[in-house]
Amino acid sequence: MNRITHNWAEHIAFAAAHTHFPRTVAELQGTVRTATRLRPIGARHSFNDIADTPGGIVSLRALERRIEIDTASRTVTVDAGITYAQLCPVLDRAGWALFNLGSIPDFTIVGAVATATHGSGNTNRNLAASVAALEFVDATGALVRLARGDADFDGAVVGLGALGIVTTLTLDLVPRFEVRQNVYHGLDFERVVGAFDALMGSAYSVSLFTHWNGVRVDQAWLKGLADAPPPPAEFFGGRAAPAESSPVMGRDPAGTTGQLGVVGPWYDRLTHARIGAIPEIGYEYQSEYFVARHHAGAAMRAIHAIETQLHPALVVAEIRTIAADDLWLSVNYGEDSVGFHFSWLRDWAAVQPALAALEAALAPFAPRPHWGKLFLLPPEAFLPRYPRLADFRALARRHDPSGKFRNAFLDRNVFGA
Ligand SMILES: Cc1cc2nc3c(=O)[nH]c(=O)nc-3n(C[C@H](O)[C@H](O)[C@H](O)COP(=O)(O)OP(=O)(O)OC[C@H]3O[C@@H](n4cnc5c(N)ncnc54)[C@H](O)[C@@H]3O)c2cc1C
Repeated sequence: MNRITHNWAEHIAFAAAHTHFPRTVAELQGTVRTATRLRPIGARHSFNDIADTPGGIVSLRALERRIEIDTASRTVTVDAGITYAQLCPVLDRAGWALFNLGSIPDFTIVGAVATATHGSGNTNRNLAASVAALEFVDATGALVRLARGDADFDGAVVGLGALGIVTTLTLDLVPRFEVRQNVYHGLDFERVVGAFDALMGSAYSVSLFTHWNGVRVDQAWLKGLADAPPPPAEFFGGRAAPAESSPVMGRDPAGTTGQLGVVGPWYDRLTHARIGAIPEIGYEYQSEYFVARHHAGAAMRAIHAIETQLHPALVVAEIRTIAADDLWLSVNYGEDSVGFHFSWLRDWAAVQPALAALEAALAPFAPRPHWGKLFLLPPEAFLPRYPRLADFRALARRHDPSGKFRNAFLDRNVFGA
């Protein structure tokens, strides 16, 4: 493929006329110096126009591969073309792990970090929080290095591609660990709402899947450390699933990570989908909103009250928790959060009214929308929830004064143009 034309869900046709595939950082610097408009792209998994540009798209998939483990600092330095699927098995074989993962392993790490992609766990921060250092090519073509503790570091990590093109990431490591995944069906909605924090804290990573159907929450997926006490037979009114399950109740579970309490490596349990299971094109839409975790019960009741308005568009919803971080444009900045995720039919006529109802229901809780998913909220509804926004804008302008890396999404949603 010599041109990237669409996002993964294939509903955004990129305006960019050409795609650059630099093989070295020097080649990338040359491309940046001569271009007037550019956008970096990862695995194309975002559901909005965040990666589009009328200029050129830059993909780092051909960049020289780097996986350098530093056992003294417990970090790994990787090239920005790499995906979790490519990195995780290598780390595991070397005795190391990342602390958490998103639902699938197919994102580039840089694309996930740039949008504050997350997994779950009351004490687990999002995936951007594992970045210890990064290097990027700014609009002048210069290579900039920032490490944790540097003044601008917290602004640059969740960068939305607005500061430049990240070439290298250094990530924190933990010793490899094993995880056991147990699924429960048919939890009691009132018990879930009443003890939300305890429920979500009952394993290393917990996801709730539901179709928002009245008095039941369809499923809980508990990803517990292998040496933690075994999970109970009954869980908040739910019963242990008799067989492997799909996140969408009743669907074929093929391609999901191992369940039924069978212990496996961290990277083959923390995601929901196995390496190699996700197709090249995805026929779905996604949205997600983050609110402070102390609002979780009230927000769940608010969604419950409008659930029939979601049903015409809804495939499945997921509820996860994410610990607070200090990254300026992180959707979890300064706040232990709950994320309300929705996988939709790829039918905008059905999704749009569902989104409008959902955003109205969540408005009292001042939600932050996921940067990489679909939302209707105008920027004035969520930008005030980013106290370091002015600092981020100034940082981006310093590295990109002419707006080389800006696009319509950033102008609309971040820079207020
Ligand atoms: C099936 C599916 C499951 C998902 N599950 C989750 C989930 O569990 N949790 C969650 O939070 N999100 C989830 N998402 C959303 C996804 O994590 C984000 O959209 C993420 O940004 C995708 O990474 P990507 O590599 O595809 O990046 P892209 O979508 O290609 O790009 C995303 C952003 O990163 C920037 N970027 C890319 N490369 C660079 C670079 N080299 N330098 C600077 N900026 C760069 C782009 O400019 C863009 O702004 C899911 C999406 C899909 C399709």
